[in-house]
Amino acid sequence: MGLQLHADAQRANAWGSQWRERLAMTSSEIIARNERFLFPVYPRAPLALVRGEGCRVWDAEGKEYLDFFSSTVVTNLGHAHPRVTAAIVEQAKKIVHVSNLHHSAPQGELAELLCRHSFASRAFLCNSGAEANEAAIKLARRYGCERLGGRFEIITMLGSFHGRTLATLTATGQEKVREGFQPLPEGFRYVPLNDMTALKAAYSPRTVAVMLELVQGEGGVIPVKASYLTELRAWCDEQGLLLIFDEVQTGAGRLGKLFGYELFGVEPDIVTLAKGLANGVPIGAMLARAEVAQCFREGAHGSTFGGNPLACAAAVATVRTLLETDVLENCRRQGAYLKAQLTELAKSCRSIRVVRGYGLLLGVELDSPATPVVDACRERGLIVNATAGQVIRLAPPLVVSAEEVDAAVAILAEVLGA
Ligand SMILES: *Cc1c(COP(=O)(O)O)cnc(C)c1O
Repeated sequence: MGLQLHADAQRANAWGSQWRERLAMTSSEIIARNERFLFPVYPRAPLALVRGEGCRVWDAEGKEYLDFFSSTVVTNLGHAHPRVTAAIVEQAKKIVHVSNLHHSAPQGELAELLCRHSFASRAFLCNSGAEANEAAIKLARRYGCERLGGRFEIITMLGSFHGRTLATLTATGQEKVREGFQPLPEGFRYVPLNDMTALKAAYSPRTVAVMLELVQGEGGVIPVKASYLTELRAWCDEQGLLLIFDEVQTGAGRLGKLFGYELFGVEPDIVTLAKGLANGVPIGAMLARAEVAQCFREGAHGSTFGGNPLACAAAVATVRTLLETDVLENCRRQGAYLKAQLTELAKSCRSIRVVRGYGLLLGVELDSPATPVVDACRERGLIVNATAGQVIRLAPPLVVSAEEVDAAVAILAEVLGA
């Protein structure tokens, strides 16, 4: 027993020094190794982050950055949120994974939370946004098959983004993500966003659903019009079609409500969540109202890791924090403040065309490419994102303070030469 403990301690020490070595790597060492061994599929900036707290992150050399992108709209409560960290640690000590052939409590706790605060009656849990949308597409097809005499076609929006699996990249209304991956699954049609006439023209007896984002995040922070959403809901009801909201980016509080659709007072039949749902632990969720949910029975769908207790514990802590603290109110307040500051900046800065978005998902459209601006911001300690060519996407953690907003806007103003 004593010998065993000694051996364990030695192993722990050896591992500890290896770990310290990893911590001691410089940014360029981290970057060089990543570039050598990983598929080069991401347009990565030369930045290696090792630590985060709230709206701030630090690189391997200890340089501090304001993270106004929440690491791809994921860390909605800020980095290393104490409640989420505690939930992860507590769950990791108990059990990290439970098979979906058995039960675990965190799954049901998360599903109940999401259903009780939405239109939905059931949740399917998975690991990413693409998987949540894949589940939504499969459920819509099942519904079409069982209830609508074999309808299968889903109408989506030009400029949308729904993921990188074969079905979700086909649902995505952007030609560039499909290049070289043919043949693609059938059954998708694309129409311009906010255009009811085009939508009605795309309708056919094969149509089963309409799927859209409330704000096209990857597509340049393009918001849906409230009047369009209301008309769309009424029209889907008339035709008996399903309405699917991809809230992978707009959900989990990003627009100042737990679900973005609450802002518009329009409910979908199916909604998908992912990015911010567990504040950085990989997770996805697809929720549906009762009659639609009935079409997924035993064997219809599944995932080994989906609803993993570790991810669910982190998600429960995240959702509870959104519901029980003033984070959503702060998102609405700081969102309005940031938008006002950017709109003010636009008056003195001719390269800004327009500022748009809801809550803390804002876009600044420029009259020139956004990437050089984003690079210059990063050099000055501010992380923002360039999307759709000329748009700067700002999406700080929902816990952002007015001082942090001021600091970010000052850097942006300096870079844009206002
Ligand atoms: C990010 C995103 C996805 C894809 O999510 P992954 O977790 O990367 O698979 C899908 N839809 C929207 C709206 C997104 O923003």
